[in-house]
Amino acid sequence: MSDTIAAIATGGVVSAIGILRVSGPETLSVIDRVFHPASGRKMSSYPNRQLVYGSMLDHDGAKLDLCLCTISRGPGSYTGEDTAELQCHGSPTVLRQGLEALFAAGARQAGPGEFSKRAFLNGRMDLTQAEAVIDIIHAETPEAARNAVGQLSGAILRKTDEIYTSLVDICSHYHAVLDYPDEDIDDFQLKDYTETLDSAIVRLQALKDSFQRGRIMTEGVRAAIIGKPNAGKSSLLNALLGYDRAIVTDVAGTTRDTIEERVRLGGVLLRLTDTAGIRETGDAIEKLGVDRALSAAEAADLVIAVFDGSGPLTAEDEEAIHATGQCAKRIAVINKSDQELVLKPDRFADLFSAVCILSAKEHTGLNTLEAAVTGLFPVPDAPVGEILTNARQADAVSRALESLCAAKDAIALGVTPDAVLTETEESMAALGELTGKTIREDVTNRIFSRFCVGK
Ligand code: GDP
Repeated sequence: MSDTIAAIATGGVVSAIGILRVSGPETLSVIDRVFHPASGRKMSSYPNRQLVYGSMLDHDGAKLDLCLCTISRGPGSYTGEDTAELQCHGSPTVLRQGLEALFAAGARQAGPGEFSKRAFLNGRMDLTQAEAVIDIIHAETPEAARNAVGQLSGAILRKTDEIYTSLVDICSHYHAVLDYPDEDIDDFQLKDYTETLDSAIVRLQALKDSFQRGRIMTEGVRAAIIGKPNAGKSSLLNALLGYDRAIVTDVAGTTRDTIEERVRLGGVLLRLTDTAGIRETGDAIEKLGVDRALSAAEAADLVIAVFDGSGPLTAEDEEAIHATGQCAKRIAVINKSDQELVLKPDRFADLFSAVCILSAKEHTGLNTLEAAVTGLFPVPDAPVGEILTNARQADAVSRALESLCAAKDAIALGVTPDAVLTETEESMAALGELTGKTIREDVTNRIFSRFCVGK
């Protein structure tokens, strides 16, 4: 590879501490020029991972900051190369000047994810671990963070490596018998390997199945609130936002320019879209409103249908019920429980996964909705870190699984061993892509471009 890269590793806002990072073969000489320990010794004379107090200097030797520095020599560092970190005061101006001083001393600006990419290319982590780094940074729930840390510790790698090794056994036995007919090697019998294939299929299937939950864990549940005008949809949305004000953020702009609100309910992250806006446009396009509700329900993981409990069921309510039919998980909310309720929950029991009675206006009964959501999206009992959260990984697992199923079918049909082994090798190739053992360079570049600079 390899030149020496540097970046500001912390966010570009004023904060207590800001970190500059350096990695590459010239790290020690770069850091000796930019950082002078208060002791008068050279930074490069210090052992690994010792925090050393001193001055950060610009290229003319003027003091930029008083800070701490630590070095970690390769190959035992994060990137596998010589690395250094400067822990400065968190001033964007000081950090920018410090970065320029590092450039003047011989480093260049790191690209997005370049530190982690070097860690991957130097064998410090596999691809699933590298991708876990992004997931930790972006985790929005404790569950997502926990799973990402498990993956960073190699949970997916260990799981798929076991499967990979068992497939290597099959292939190597076959080739050994074929290539060394005179050696005393047990004859190759495909049926001896059916158990290995069965067990690999079960494990890959479980991994594949975990992706649905994994996607929800990292991206959130796409939830649509539907219902007739004045049922209380907006009030419910507002009540939920108030319910979990701490983590509410506005994410502007799907293509329809709606506002998506993110709310955590009982540990489940909901990406709530209120389909209500349409009602304000009047009778003439009521039909359009229904269509919008239908398509919102179709795209959603969860539909929350809101009914005005203080009045009887109307034709519009029936439309809303019809719209929920597009989604597998649906909750009926009988709203306005602070008034005398006319609507009875039994009416919805068969049609909905759960029925909640609440008052969006008075903020009462919201805990029933929380319980219903948690019930519909339970934390899976997969060990920590073994939930797939990444579409690329899920695709590789699916292909590995498909090939193994094809191998099993081929055995059942009595196909010759070489055809069965071709399928097995395809499966191994897909697993290799998952962990990065056999991945194309353009794919690797795409993966790391999703990282932030400095990671
Ligand atoms: P949307 O058209 O479905 O979004 O309904 P809104 O949230 O705009 O509410 C319509 C009307 O119902 C407003 O006057 C709200 O104040 C009222 N409303 C909403 N929720 C409740 C509730 O829980 N109890 C009562 N009494 N009124 C409510």
